[in-house]
Amino acid sequence: MTKKLLKTWQKPSITPHQMGTLNKFGRPVSGDYVEKIDGVAVSDLLREYGSPLFVISEKRLRDNIRQMKRAFESRYQPVIHAWSYKTNYLNAVCATLHQEGSWAEVVSAFEYEKARALGVPAERILFNGPHKKRAILERCVTEGARIHIDNLDELYLLDTIAREFDKVTSVTLRLNFDTGYTEDWSRFGFNLGSGAALDAAIRIGNSSHLKLRGLHSHIGTFILDPRAYQVQVEKMCGFMELIEQQTHALIDSIDIGGGFASQNALQGSYLPTEQVVPTMSQYADTICGTLLKMTAQREAQGKPRLKLILESGRAVVDDSEVLISSVVAGKRLPDGRASYVMDAGVNLLFTAFWYNHKVKHTRPLQGIPEETVLYGPLCMNIDIIRQSILLPPLSVGDSLVLSPAGAYNNTQWMQFIEYRPAIVMVHENSLVSVVRRAEKLEDLNGFESLPTHLNGQFKFAE
Ligand SMILES: *Cc1c(COP(=O)(O)O)cnc(C)c1O
Repeated sequence: MTKKLLKTWQKPSITPHQMGTLNKFGRPVSGDYVEKIDGVAVSDLLREYGSPLFVISEKRLRDNIRQMKRAFESRYQPVIHAWSYKTNYLNAVCATLHQEGSWAEVVSAFEYEKARALGVPAERILFNGPHKKRAILERCVTEGARIHIDNLDELYLLDTIAREFDKVTSVTLRLNFDTGYTEDWSRFGFNLGSGAALDAAIRIGNSSHLKLRGLHSHIGTFILDPRAYQVQVEKMCGFMELIEQQTHALIDSIDIGGGFASQNALQGSYLPTEQVVPTMSQYADTICGTLLKMTAQREAQGKPRLKLILESGRAVVDDSEVLISSVVAGKRLPDGRASYVMDAGVNLLFTAFWYNHKVKHTRPLQGIPEETVLYGPLCMNIDIIRQSILLPPLSVGDSLVLSPAGAYNNTQWMQFIEYRPAIVMVHENSLVSVVRRAEKLEDLNGFESLPTHLNGQFKFAE
């Protein structure tokens, strides 16, 4: 049955536009719209799986990691890619990347267990992060995962465990230092400048059961200037020479962490993403070029070639996933701006706090674009998925595709007020699988138990 939609009356408003150039609302949205995702109609997806809905493109995910591998491996070998679980630890996403050869990079006992349960061998897991309790360290030592030591307490505990289990354990030291291009992340790992890193390396050198084999640092995130990585590689290689001279350490790998920017628009950035985000080739050129230069002498001495380890998260997954959200209601604000209540908010699109996501409609829209606010469904003032965007008038039921949404949303989303919706993956043959079903009341109540005396007998006021 087709329905004829009556046009609703809206209070007229005037919005000044400087078409063709940047104005304070950013660039005018283009008239193009997304009807299909990898060959599957958005309307079919919503009919089948409901709204809101996360949609992952398996093809884009594979293309992204393959492109990154090509960019690096054509300039340096061997390179190991380790998938940063916290960026998106859906099993379907991790499994796709493991099929493409990526190892797992985890930062908690939960993530370690998730990787192991998915079938990742311990020797293919890198364990970062400041919080590793004894039980999980014991498991890592027995299973042979590579632990990246964050602090002295961890170093002592690990040494104790390795001796108790009488297991010689290869470890990596996490370093921090000023690159001149990135923020101060001195809370993670050992500082180079203060001497803490050298001190830690010497302590490991004195241990009978710990062997220092790797150096790691993760200097920041959404790094827009590749020169940050040049400084990073230079400093790490300089430190490597120092400790190889002063201790018995023989380093097998330099792990430069993640931090490559994705195709997302940081709030406050006025230039279009394509103009500010370096290409994978630009990152790879700087990193591999510096590494080759810094290790030439070492290789001439006959030392084995270093493995370059990358832990890129957002740049791999961000643009392979979108969030589709529908208009629940429209409301003209007192100052004349258009606003809409959407069925997805910061509960699902956590990254709306710092990105201006691309917003595309899913059908051609008539009408003049005007300044619009997109609110989420939460009864909470900060639930805004877009403070200001130019959009033509929308109707209840219209859906919008918000992207990129693949990084740090399915892990940082919160079950607050609303259920979390389904996540589907569109495969390369345009078939669709549910990779995480929508939450139900039983799921959430399943965590709780009600003390017997609180069960019923409610005495409601009249
Ligand atoms: C989060 C994290 C990454 C991934 O960072 P991106 O900015 O998403 O590339 C890599 N390594 C470590 C240690 C991390 O904590």
